[in-house]
Amino acid sequence: MTNPSFELDQDHLDLRDWVHTFAADVVRPAASEWDEREEFPWPVLEEAAKIGLYSLDFFATQSFDKTGLGIPVAMEELFWGDAGIGLSIVGTALAAAGLSSNGTPEQVGEWAPQMFGSPGDLKLAAFCSSEPDAGSDVGAMRTRAVYDEATDEWVLNGTKTWATNGGLADIHVITAVVDPELRTRGQASFVVPPGTKGLAQGQKFTKHGIRASHTAEVVLDNCRVPGRCLLGGKDRLDTKLAKAREGGRGGGQPSMATFERTRPAVGAQAIGIARAAYEIALDYAKTREQFGKPIIENQAIAFTLADMATSIEASRLLVWRAAWMASQGKAFTQAEGSMSKLFAGETAVRVTERAMQILGGNGYTREYPVERMARDAKIYTIFEGTSEIQRLVIARSISGAPIR
Ligand SMILES: Cc1cc2nc3c(=O)[nH]c(=O)nc-3n(C[C@H](O)[C@H](O)[C@H](O)COP(=O)(O)OP(=O)(O)OC[C@H]3O[C@@H](n4cnc5c(N)ncnc54)[C@H](O)[C@@H]3O)c2cc1C
Repeated sequence: MTNPSFELDQDHLDLRDWVHTFAADVVRPAASEWDEREEFPWPVLEEAAKIGLYSLDFFATQSFDKTGLGIPVAMEELFWGDAGIGLSIVGTALAAAGLSSNGTPEQVGEWAPQMFGSPGDLKLAAFCSSEPDAGSDVGAMRTRAVYDEATDEWVLNGTKTWATNGGLADIHVITAVVDPELRTRGQASFVVPPGTKGLAQGQKFTKHGIRASHTAEVVLDNCRVPGRCLLGGKDRLDTKLAKAREGGRGGGQPSMATFERTRPAVGAQAIGIARAAYEIALDYAKTREQFGKPIIENQAIAFTLADMATSIEASRLLVWRAAWMASQGKAFTQAEGSMSKLFAGETAVRVTERAMQILGGNGYTREYPVERMARDAKIYTIFEGTSEIQRLVIARSISGAPIR
């Protein structure tokens, strides 16, 4: 592998400082309130839109950063502020990634601006792949999309679950089965435009962490969308299905294309949470005295902090490498994207738990933010592919063996 330089240039340093200032001044002070309210933090999103952080322009510019580091740098700082609010700000970007991974340039041009809206007129988007019986196993997906040739419309039926921004969103990107016999290769994704009849929010979930972020079921009941809402277009789908029926590879599963692109960014979010908890624990250990000295002077505490710092640095290197490889068009031959998400997610869980331990009784209360950070961190071993699924992807990549 060519040796990448991970020295941030001035543009990245400016980006880091800009997002950090917003995270410190606006996001962190609001974190506890929105966690307790367990509601979507609209006023914070409005502030993010006003400075251009919640905007198509921001995500598009950073996604095309030639080093790949723009998104991970920004994610780490934002999620250092708070993960629940952070996810409310970037949830739309997951749907935008679903659109740009599978849509034509014309479709991206039409729908992407409508996903974000503008200050004073905010819009949201949701990416809906998971179903009650199809989480890790996307091949078990049941939501059906049937083409109605007479009207040139697709008719969607099924129930999606765990959708970030689901039902609240103006635009939903829905993955559905067009040919059940082809399993994952018989799936396609669709845009459901604002106000489309037949799409409704189901249950809204109350959660352990990231409680400001909205997570809900999305029910599709004879939901009709125009033919142009099939991402990639009908000709491309027909060619893909024909190849798959002949036994060829026939293109990938649409959700997987999205997750491949987003895994390093998700890893960077986990690093932001871990770093926030680590910094609080380090400060606390230097000032909290027991047995007549700061607790950091005990090796048990100091070594714990040393391990926390080391795993955060290692996570960042894995995430930046994967993001850099993606920006250079290099294939993830050893599942480097999955490695980065796996390691960063598990680091966030371990580091936030250790931070609570270092804060003792205070760490267990809601007076201190590490308790919230520990609850938030846990999702990073579950969504965008569980830790077990990341290990499955890595194990298959390094071995070539059909590991189940
Ligand atoms: C807060 C939140 C937000 C989310 N946002 C979105 C979203 O915006 N859009 C979306 O589409 N989805 C979203 N998800 C869904 C998320 O991606 C799934 O929860 C995740 O993929 C796991 O699926 P599952 O919950 O059905 O668990 P299951 O697949 O049922 O897994 C249960 C357990 O079994 C393990 N397991 C399963 N298969 C294997 C195997 N082959 N080998 C070893 N272990 C295995 C899993 O690792 C896990 O530990 C979200 C979930 C949550 C909780």
